[in-house]
Amino acid sequence: MNKDNPSVKIKSANLDHNYGKVFNNFHVTSKWLASKYLDKYKVDPNWSCNGLIKQVKDDHGLTISAVKAWRTKNLVMKWVNGDASKQYTKLCRYATELKQSNLGSTVNLWRDKQHFKGFYVRMKPLKDAFGSGCRPFIGLDGCFLKGLYDGQLLSAVGIDLNSCIFSIAYVVVLVENTETWTWFIELLRNDLEIWNNTYVTIMSDRQNCLKRVVQEIFPNAEHRNCIRHIYTNFREKFRGKALKDYLWNAVQGLHIYILDTWDKGIITMLEIIKIKLMRRMKKKNNQILKYKGILCPKIQNKLDQMKEEAQCYTLDFSGGPKVQIIGIGGSFVVDMIEHTCTCRRWELTCMSCSHTIRAIHGNNQQPEEFVHVAYLVSTYLRVYEHYINPTNSEELWPEVNDGTRVIPPPMGRRKRGMKATARRKEPEEVEKALKKSNSDSNTSDKGKQKLARKGLSTRRNDAAPENASIGSAATGNEPTQPSDVIGIQQS
Ligand SMILES: [Zn+2]
Repeated sequence: MNKDNPSVKIKSANLDHNYGKVFNNFHVTSKWLASKYLDKYKVDPNWSCNGLIKQVKDDHGLTISAVKAWRTKNLVMKWVNGDASKQYTKLCRYATELKQSNLGSTVNLWRDKQHFKGFYVRMKPLKDAFGSGCRPFIGLDGCFLKGLYDGQLLSAVGIDLNSCIFSIAYVVVLVENTETWTWFIELLRNDLEIWNNTYVTIMSDRQNCLKRVVQEIFPNAEHRNCIRHIYTNFREKFRGKALKDYLWNAVQGLHIYILDTWDKGIITMLEIIKIKLMRRMKKKNNQILKYKGILCPKIQNKLDQMKEEAQCYTLDFSGGPKVQIIGIGGSFVVDMIEHTCTCRRWELTCMSCSHTIRAIHGNNQQPEEFVHVAYLVSTYLRVYEHYINPTNSEELWPEVNDGTRVIPPPMGRRKRGMKATARRKEPEEVEKALKKSNSDSNTSDKGKQKLARKGLSTRRNDAAPENASIGSAATGNEPTQPSDVIGIQQS
């Protein structure tokens, strides 16, 4: 074979093979695999290692190890996203591109002597949407990033009229502390224009540093009990799981939504979050345009449920605006002019309770007529008529004078693993755990006596029940609950 003639002449060959097929081939390197499947990863950056292993098996009949698949994915992602450290040097240009594509947005890069400290994003369309009819509620939460570099993603989340999460703003910071929360909340307050006459509730499980920060930024704020206490009080009266789930899910919602972005480079992650939010706004808009009802879907479902419950009640008209409703839970008084019920649901949520619905039906009217304008589809549509504009690719981002002067944070020094989720116990829970612990130790005492009679050692069993009870008290069976809510009511 030579340069001019690439053909090969085979003079002799032994085509009879009697050895088994080899499924592992050391020539199949992660670099070769990366070049082979680069296009596939460009289309789907979240393609799993198991997917790659299966694809290689299908395409080439070869088995590759999980480590080789992981190395391949890392290499491809490096090619696709660029080096994670270089992404920090492009933050200034990315910030300018974001601001130019969505005019009025606040994008803030925080540097300390060129060292990266934080990156804040609040898109103008999201601010407008939030002001168009979302509830006056802000949930604050944070999560660790899993990429090569240290960092945490903090976010502010609202709740729309249909009780779904709504992202307001997010930041990437090196570490979550009083300084970074102050920076984030001050920017958020200025952006959302939450001044002294604004009524808003802020909730978070970051009780240690955040409570102090909110006190400083909103000095006239009224601080309410933490969310866990609210839930406990609620449970005493209603024994319901709904409030706990609702509040907890609201704050955690965004982080679950963007779960697959945590291990990416900073710009890749921010861009994926932006695209996800862009798609979400569009999807919600499409969904509600197709929807035929007058009330938001979840609100309609709740109302239908209340209508069912209302059938269990009897009523007595007084001749005046007040109606007496009798049934499950006793007797309730509904005021049809003041729009109140003694169960307080109507005045607190502006949603009719089952007692109110019984009274409305008794008056030959429809409950839909009494639903607050905030729950109407027309209001909901005003929130999701806003849209986030797309951004150009890196080559088209504007040049910035000191654009590259960002020194990346140190590479992952923090301890990896699951975040601690244990929470402080309520007094009655502690009592319960103690009782359980005592009963366990009593049992073990009896056991010890039995074993002692038999002349056996009890050393191994001594520690077990104690540890078990400590473990169950620390983790519990319930999902972790947020531990702090700060209500802000300023006049
Ligand atoms: Zn009621």
